[in-house]
Amino acid sequence: MREQYPNAEIGVLHEWEGIKYLVDTLALSHRGQAPSYDDYPEALCEMAETYIKDKKPALVAVCFDQLDHVGHKSGHDTQEYYNCLHTLDGYIGRIIQAIKDAGIWDDTIIMLTADHGGINKGHGGITLEEVEIPFIIAGKNIKQSGEFQESMMQFDTAATIAYVFRLEQPQVWTGRPMKQVFKK
Ligand SMILES: [Zn+2]
Repeated sequence: MREQYPNAEIGVLHEWEGIKYLVDTLALSHRGQAPSYDDYPEALCEMAETYIKDKKPALVAVCFDQLDHVGHKSGHDTQEYYNCLHTLDGYIGRIIQAIKDAGIWDDTIIMLTADHGGINKGHGGITLEEVEIPFIIAGKNIKQSGEFQESMMQFDTAATIAYVFRLEQPQVWTGRPMKQVFKK
């Protein structure tokens, strides 16, 4: 993205500090880490709202860590876990509203995904509960409803983003764009 659109506004906003080692920070226009969500749970959501309205980014990743934390502390598939999902759902609603307020909703695609699932109070194993993740996509030129009939791997997310921006995918990538989600 940075190579092919040098002026693109690209941001990453996150809670977990480790995210900064997972992204190409040299390609970013902006990186912001939220303060501890124990003290200020809405901080990341507010940062996303402000960034989207101020900068109207071409690409932004908003990485919530709270759910992982609850999974480790209280367990996955527990009431606390679903309560946290409910809270995150509210944040997503606010981020969607910020996109609308920024006047870019009609030109936006939203992807919601995760890096892993969980079982009991952990993850990292090979059970389906741990390795299966959601991938939800909505917005401009995306089909209204439907379910994947094919397999998708996490690295296909990057390939799908590259496809959206008509980027030439680096030869080294093994990801495949999920073309079936687009109307045309
Ligand atoms: Zn974890």
